[in-house]
Parts: sequence; C-alpha cells; structure tokens
Amino acid sequence: MQNKKTTGLVWFKNDLRVNDNMSLSNACKNHEKVIAVYFLDPRQSKKDDYGFIKTGKFRTKFLLETLSDLKHTLQQLNISLLVYQTTPEVKITDLIETYKISNLYCQKEWTQEELIVINSVKDKISPEVKINESYDQFLYHPEDIPIQINSIPQVFTAFRKKLEKYATIREVNKIIPKPKNNLVNNSTVIPTLSDLGFKDFTVHSNSAFPFKGGETEALKRLNNYFFETKKLGFYKKTRNGLIGTDYSSKFSSWLANGSISARTIYWKVKEFEKHNYKNESTYWLIFELIWRDYFKYISLKYGSKLFKIGGILDKNYSWSSNPKAIQKWIDGETSEPFVNANMLELKHTGWMSNRGRQNVASYFAKELELDWRIGAAYFESLLIDYDVHSNYGNWMYVAGVGNDPRDRKFNVKLQAERYDANGKFQNTWLQPTLF
Ligand SMILES: Cc1cc2nc3c(=O)[nH]c(=O)nc-3n(C[C@H](O)[C@H](O)[C@H](O)COP(=O)(O)OP(=O)(O)OC[C@H]3O[C@@H](n4cnc5c(N)ncnc54)[C@H](O)[C@@H]3O)c2cc1C
Repeated sequence: MQNKKTTGLVWFKNDLRVNDNMSLSNACKNHEKVIAVYFLDPRQSKKDDYGFIKTGKFRTKFLLETLSDLKHTLQQLNISLLVYQTTPEVKITDLIETYKISNLYCQKEWTQEELIVINSVKDKISPEVKINESYDQFLYHPEDIPIQINSIPQVFTAFRKKLEKYATIREVNKIIPKPKNNLVNNSTVIPTLSDLGFKDFTVHSNSAFPFKGGETEALKRLNNYFFETKKLGFYKKTRNGLIGTDYSSKFSSWLANGSISARTIYWKVKEFEKHNYKNESTYWLIFELIWRDYFKYISLKYGSKLFKIGGILDKNYSWSSNPKAIQKWIDGETSEPFVNANMLELKHTGWMSNRGRQNVASYFAKELELDWRIGAAYFESLLIDYDVHSNYGNWMYVAGVGNDPRDRKFNVKLQAERYDANGKFQNTWLQPTLF
C-alpha cells in the first residue's frame, strides 16, 4: 500500500478498459489522485520493412472509437484521460513533473518494439518514480501457472491439460471510483481518422465485423452473444463459418486492444453455464481463449524468435519474396478463388475468419513458398484484431516454423468444398461489380 496522498499515473496501452484492469484498480486503491494517459505513438503509423503501414485504417478507426469510449467511462469515474500524439518517452517526464506523479502503472509487455518503448521511458524518468508493470493480458496469470516459462510445452495440448488441471483463473479486478475533484484540466483531444492521415470510410456492407471499438461495445456484444441470443450454446458447431456476425464470438478485436479481459469472458461463460447449461460449445470458447494464452506464453518463452524467418524451430527453409506473387495474393488474384475471396474480405473490411486465415496463410507459405513474415506483416497492417502474439504465433504455426507438430498444408480446394460448399462466401466477395 502506498502513501495515499500521492498521485498515480495509469499509462494505458493494450488494456483499454475500466473493468478488470489491474493497473487502474491498483492505482485507484493506492493513491488519492489518479490520472490516465494514452499515447498515439507515431511509430505505429509508419511503414514497416515491407512497405505496409503498421497500423492501417481499419484498426486505427477501431482504436479511435475505443479511446472515445474509454475517455467517457473514465470521466464517469472522475478520472481524466489525456491523449497525446507523440512517443511516450518524449512526454512522460513532463507529465510526471506537472502532476507530481509518484507511481506509474502500466501493462507489462515483452515483445521487442514494446520493450524499446518501456526501456526508453525508464531511462528518462527519475528512479524515485516507481513503475508498476503487471501482466494483465492473460487468462491464466503467469504467476499462477504450474510451468516455468522456459519449459512451456511445444505442443498446445500438453500446455492446456496442465493448466486446466493445476491452475485457476483469478477473479476480476474491481475499481473504486474517485471523487469529483480528481479530474484535471484536460485540453487534449482525440484526433480524427483524417488527422492521422486516413480518409474517413464507412464499414463495407458485407463485413462480418461491423462492430465499433470500445469497452461498451465489447460488453454489449458479449451480452448479446451469450445471454440475449444464446449463440454461445452453438459456438462449437458454427465456429468454422465464413459469413455474418454470429458464426464466432468476434471478441478478438476487443481482446487485442484490451477493451475486454479474457478473465471477464471466462467468468461470463461460467455465469451462462450456471444459469443456462454447460455443453461442448461453452467449454470450447474457453478452449480457444487458452490458445490465445498459449501464443502469449510461446512469445514470452522465445522473445524475438517470433519475428525471425526460421521461427522458434530455427528451420532453414528456402523462402521467396517475389513481389508480383505477393501483390496477387493481397489483391485476391491468385489461381485459388477461395484464397481470393478471403483476401478481398480482408482488404475491404480488416476482418477474416479463422478458417480463412489458416487457408490464405498456408497458401502463402506452403504453396507459394513466400517468406511468411511478409504475410504476417500484411495481416498486422490490415487486421482490426491484430495481436502480436496471436498473429506471429499462428503464422509460424501455419508456415511450419512454430508449434504445429504435424506441419500440415491445407488443401485449399478441399477446404473450400467443405466450408463453402454452395460457394456463398466466394460469391459474396468475388462479384466483379462489388468494389
Ligand atoms: C494466420 C493467422 C493469423 C491470426 N492473427 C490473429 C491476430 O492477429 N489476432 C487475433 O486475435 N487472432 C489471430 N488469429 C487467430 C484467430 O483467427 C482469431 O482469433 C479469430 O478468428 C477471431 O475471431 P473470434 O473472436 O470470433 O474467435 P472465436 O472463434 O470466437 O474465439 C474466441 C477467442 O479465442 C481466441 N482464439 C480463437 N482462435 C485462436 C487462435 N487460433 N489463436 C489465438 N487465439 C485464438 C481469440 O481471442 C478469440 O477472440 C490468427 C489466426 C491465423 C491462422
């Protein structure tokens, strides 16, 4: 417990929620005054090594909606959210001085770009300011699992079984609101899409992800999918679908920027099971959240190997980087209509189903033998739900340099016959007059 008459600064990153937020609830518990900040880091809008904008228009729009919602919900708890379009290391010392901050709270990250940021902040600020970093993106907290990080199994099933048997999931963190006089004068504004260099756009009418960003929308979706429509009860049967909003939960985008926590979803599944029924589908949603955790643990274990061509297996395959083949894949102009339909969906909506992702990634890496990191970077730019661990972990898996013990290649034609037997999905995206 800190001396209460101090000020805590909550630096929001990919934990953009007020419910079940460890940093926020600890800051509110420990300090009389609490201020919140978010940095729209210009490095995230730059082009990457392959020429893709790191955060493209779809995720940027979703992020701006998320920030508006967060600002509003924090305001209701009498906490001001300051938003700056600059790098954290440039601004944070000013904030610490202006508001006499004694403690900084933030989510702990470990991937290479995030480490550069936190280390440069640590270099800048006085050692008297205590930095409280907490792992808050997991379902199973790293302190609660019965496995050392360097012994995380290479195979998902071994990991899952151990966690299910020996670990428990924490309760959600509660938050204590602040009194009205906690608010500070806030002249910062959340920029618009055009301030950030993008043309405004409307969501494509065929989009399977027409949702808005923010915690309010995430909770609304959860309530609808679980309790209003009870779609959760059929999830296992529908999860390989391709069309519409309801074949899967669509939680990933809110999970990725932390608008909802995996723990919240878990405890809501338990509530559903208690008041309705428990079946394979209710379990399977948790099963998938454990996959999400798995890739986070793989990333913790292997660090920057996630971004290396040989992956975590140090495989020495020969990869091509033929720009024409890459562009055809991006534009949906390959010889495989099923790949093309999925790639056009991604290009025009920022969304693609899990089935689609597996197929287009397998086709890219195993059929065209293109450097899988370029495909992963394109996904990073386009996906609304981009999450560093899930994206690079899944790409490595599909490319044969990660955690697939069977190193499978998808037969795209058979997959199309099985999952799009009547061609409805392909027809949705391959109509010549659509764009
Ligand atoms: C090549 C490739 C790249 C991917 N990139 C991302 C990414 O950047 N961000 C991302 O969140 N997911 C990624 N995935 C995983 C998966 O496709 C998405 O999580 C899923 O399609 C999101 O839809 P949903 O929320 O409706 O999932 P649901 O089927 O409803 O699943 C519920 C939740 O479980 C988690 N989950 C489900 N499948 C996976 C999986 N294979 N790996 C990890 N977590 C999973 C997600 O958090 C998801 O929201 C990728 C998969 C592949 C094959």
